[in-house]
Amino acid sequence: MPTSVLISGAGPVGLTLALELIRFGVPCRIIDKSPSRTDKSKALAVWSRTLELLDRSGAAPALIETGRKMHVVKIMSGKKTIARVNFDGLASPFPFVLMIPQSETERVLEEKLEALGGKVERNVEFVDFVDDGKTVTSTVVHPDGRKELIVTDWLAGCDGAHSPIRHQLGMPFEGDTVPGTFLLADVHVSGLDMAEDEFPIFWHRSGIVAFFPIATGRYRVIADMGAEPQRDLTLDDVQTIVDQRGPGGLVVSDCVWLAPFTINERKVKDFRAGRVFLAGDAAHIHSPAGGQGMNTGIQDAINLAWKLALVIEDRGDPELLLNSYSIERSANATQVLKDSGRMLRVGMMQNVAGQAVRDFLIGKLFGLSFVNHIAADRLSELAVAYDESPLNGPEMKGLGFPRPGHRMAGFGTFGSKGAHFSLVAADPAEAAVRLKDYMNLIDGDIRSPSDVDGMCLVRPDGYVAVTTHRDGWEDLTAFLGRVSGA
Ligand SMILES: Cc1cc2nc3c(=O)[nH]c(=O)nc-3n(C[C@H](O)[C@H](O)[C@H](O)COP(=O)(O)OP(=O)(O)OC[C@H]3O[C@@H](n4cnc5c(N)ncnc54)[C@H](O)[C@@H]3O)c2cc1C
Repeated sequence: MPTSVLISGAGPVGLTLALELIRFGVPCRIIDKSPSRTDKSKALAVWSRTLELLDRSGAAPALIETGRKMHVVKIMSGKKTIARVNFDGLASPFPFVLMIPQSETERVLEEKLEALGGKVERNVEFVDFVDDGKTVTSTVVHPDGRKELIVTDWLAGCDGAHSPIRHQLGMPFEGDTVPGTFLLADVHVSGLDMAEDEFPIFWHRSGIVAFFPIATGRYRVIADMGAEPQRDLTLDDVQTIVDQRGPGGLVVSDCVWLAPFTINERKVKDFRAGRVFLAGDAAHIHSPAGGQGMNTGIQDAINLAWKLALVIEDRGDPELLLNSYSIERSANATQVLKDSGRMLRVGMMQNVAGQAVRDFLIGKLFGLSFVNHIAADRLSELAVAYDESPLNGPEMKGLGFPRPGHRMAGFGTFGSKGAHFSLVAADPAEAAVRLKDYMNLIDGDIRSPSDVDGMCLVRPDGYVAVTTHRDGWEDLTAFLGRVSGA
């Protein structure tokens, strides 16, 4: 079978895209220039929405088996707790943040891919492409120096922050570098008095120090180092910062990764150019505050995969579906950039009087349960919504369903069977007759909970497309006709 999609880059985003496409039966190839997966812990946090979406391919349970569930993040000043965000109340089957090294996340995704017959072609470097409007011809180089031309319908650049594909597209990576240097250290920490499922971020007048759990006693320590120029760091530097900004009495040791880094806040305007897509760090990079980078990239891949599957199988309107990928995910990345930038700047505030006001206000605000709830929803990415999407169909209020473009909670998992819309309807038998022309787009297993009166059509990625009353067949057929391009 000819390859429909070439994926360049087998980080978490490329692996997720390959896993989803293969799950949907789309022939694809995935290459990576590096000989092996990363052995670095890099992104540690996997949030609830990502777990919900990875649950459909069976990856979530394997991740949970390896990771650690955290229920509370505390913002502290010395020994005093300023605020706490609690994830227990999240309306999700995964009401926690999972801490797991990125190396393990990639292992799980790659094993799932292999179980479905997929394989990462390693040591294969993407060089360039030609998009002639009908196909994309990519040049790749094999380890023995052999060049291969790969002709596909579509090309996905999941090739990281320095994306060669983005460069070839000439897309500006708009944004800035955050002034100052940051420190990252994966170390053993003793003396940290925290419950097993809590982790702290300390705010101090000289800056932040945060402790993200990796394994029992082991933490990723992140701190800002102000205007200090980048230099080689030692364990003593970490200890000095921890002594100065932490609660006192902590000892760091056994460092396995210590590096200075700078933060970039950038994104491309469009995630699509012709037959080429960008996803993950290739399309957007932001501050690590909030741990949203990898999660956002994985959700790019999930958003793109079902749309590509419908188009490749000739079940969907290419322009409507594929343009919606860029519209939805670019707007989401803009929001993530804003939120993570704001979190970083609030934490790094330098003015001492301002810090006192900040600590007071944050303490009061996060004491309010609805603020806590909003913060947890935003961090966990359960609040991700596509209000401006061209894929949003008609809305009928008052039926108890979320709005079009919003996440469908409850009623089980959506999209686990393939690239099909799911229907929640009071009368499944009538729905099957009325929608018979569109049953290639709808999962035949129509849900009919007893307490539901209207109908709700849910996208393969679990976002609502249409809500209508129990006889709103025209709303559904008009929407499905538009999606199918009929
Ligand atoms: C030090 C560090 C700490 C981080 N900490 C966090 C964190 O705490 N939380 C968080 O959310 N995020 C964090 N991140 C960011 C997170 O790691 C990224 O968001 C995530 O890796 C993005 O995944 P990706 O698949 O888009 O890109 P990548 O993981 O960068 O993968 C891109 C892949 O493309 C391959 N590639 C590149 N060029 C080519 C080519 N020409 N041909 C073939 N293959 C190619 C590369 O080898 C690589 O495997 C951190 C990143 C770093 C570097």
